[in-house]
Amino acid sequence: MVEPSEPINLIGLDRTSLERFFMELGESTYRATQLMKWIYHKGVGDFQAMTDFSRDLRTRLDTVATLDMPVELSRDRSSDGTVRWVIETRNRNAIETVWIPDGARNTLCISSQVGCVLDCSFCSTGKQGFNGNLSSSEIIGQVLYADRMLKEFWDPRGVTNVVFMGMGEPLLNFDAVMGAVDVLKDDFGFGLSKRRITISTAGVVPGIKKMCGRTDVALAISLHAPTDSVRSDLVPINRKYPIADLIEASSNYLSTLGERRSVTVEYTLMEGVNDSLDDARDLAQLLRGLKCKINLIPFNPFPSSGYLRPSRGTTEAFQNTLINLGYTTMLRKTRGDDIHAACGQLVGQVQDRTRRVERYASRAKTIEATLDQMS
Ligand code: SAH
Repeated sequence: MVEPSEPINLIGLDRTSLERFFMELGESTYRATQLMKWIYHKGVGDFQAMTDFSRDLRTRLDTVATLDMPVELSRDRSSDGTVRWVIETRNRNAIETVWIPDGARNTLCISSQVGCVLDCSFCSTGKQGFNGNLSSSEIIGQVLYADRMLKEFWDPRGVTNVVFMGMGEPLLNFDAVMGAVDVLKDDFGFGLSKRRITISTAGVVPGIKKMCGRTDVALAISLHAPTDSVRSDLVPINRKYPIADLIEASSNYLSTLGERRSVTVEYTLMEGVNDSLDDARDLAQLLRGLKCKINLIPFNPFPSSGYLRPSRGTTEAFQNTLINLGYTTMLRKTRGDDIHAACGQLVGQVQDRTRRVERYASRAKTIEATLDQMS
């Protein structure tokens, strides 16, 4: 006897996958866009309410598919308007999603993995270990959930921009992230333009190479230091893919996009580590030849991080040095730090912490295996 398979969650499936799903049910492919309109445009979460589907199709959908939304574990709102949601994942871990209202923009910072394997020394997510990839459903679920909440309670425009800067390394969960990007861009999905979606990477060079020709969204690279020796201490994956490789891959990606696009270079300033004026000048020198904007992030502290945020004076001097050398340089406002929603403060609640030591031992293997699959 054939076991009935698990119902499939249709939220987050890109259009091509939905077309395949409907074809396998013996239905026309245009059902895919009909369904997407119900989910993403009309906010409907129940097959029975989809009135352009026959009763028979609705009944079949109820048995073979679901429209599972994320489960909210908690929600905090910062004094500056930032909202942080803690969301439960399939395997009972928790991830975080942050909405950052900023004038005309409603940016949603989403997670791509539960925890992170990369273990950057100044990031609290890495300290929690790693517990797996999110599916496209879980990635898009974050956007859909926040978008519905915004529209219902706070802002009828909903989510206008999405950044993959929450927990995890998006390029180590390549396929699910790209599937989610397809839904974000699709006119029957969220209809966001390529410039309003940003993938941020700690420097997974094979992933950047794979982006070429596959996508055209904005790229941000977490550089944080002008030299390999300092960067390797902060971002261990630099030992495998040094700065020169990262810049070359980023530049190649840009060249696939055409005119008037640039890479965002993220640089978290840590006192006495990477915040001297010499560092600023070295950074400027290093980035000559890469079309970029620099985004300075004052370090966001967390317990026993061992790093400090530089003074305002130091931060401004660093910024001014770069501006004087011709770089568009923004200072990222620290948002939501009263609710621990700022960059690098997202930790979710990665379960099973007792196994952290083991996980750390297997971390190297996980990275190797993922990278091998990519090359
Ligand atoms: N893995 C991806 C995306 C997640 S982190 C990446 O590394 O780009 C998003 C940004 O926040 C990265 O630039 C990261 O380096 C930065 N960040 C991490 N911890 C931080 C902290 N404690 N203070 C300030 N920025 C931090």
